[in-house]
Amino acid sequence: MKQGIHPKYEQTKIQCACGAVFETGSTKKDMRVESCSNCHPFFTGRQKLVDTGGRVDKFKKRFGMK
Ligand SMILES: [Zn+2]
Repeated sequence: MKQGIHPKYEQTKIQCACGAVFETGSTKKDMRVESCSNCHPFFTGRQKLVDTGGRVDKFKKRFGMK
């Protein structure tokens, strides 16, 4: 058996733009995603993201969306 051919696989955190944090196993660390099963319209059926304390407004301003 060869050794060292697989990247290290360990616990990592994935943070979504909605503020949700998931722990999963991955070779990458501290990933960020724009939507997750918590807030994505495909999963929730809702059109708007859940706005927690103006987080979404800040997000929109940063990217020049109105
Ligand atoms: Zn989310």
